[in-house]
Amino acid sequence: MNTNYQLDENLMAELKMKSVKSEKEICGFILESNDFVEVKNVHPDPKNYFLISPADYIWEKGAILFHSHPSHIDTYGFSKWDLENQFYFQKKMLLYSVKYDEFYFKAP
Ligand SMILES: [Zn+2]
Repeated sequence: MNTNYQLDENLMAELKMKSVKSEKEICGFILESNDFVEVKNVHPDPKNYFLISPADYIWEKGAILFHSHPSHIDTYGFSKWDLENQFYFQKKMLLYSVKYDEFYFKAP
């Protein structure tokens, strides 16, 4: 695991399972309680990108933005798009890559 973020094992299993089952990128927020709140990926090309509607955005300070890279995505770690998003939203980000079976974490 390429992250310095300590993730709850049950939560990790849940995120992996949801990511593996989806052809599209899934996205949502991990709350401080370790609950995952999945929100709709509204990007026009959801197989390759994710986008969260401002209405669904969770601004709670400790919330971590999670999304997945489905198995067809070769990018190792965060994409340019992901990093641009983070620059804009200033959120901690967690990514799960199905292809590499790895989690990646990045603080803003
Ligand atoms: Zn991404």
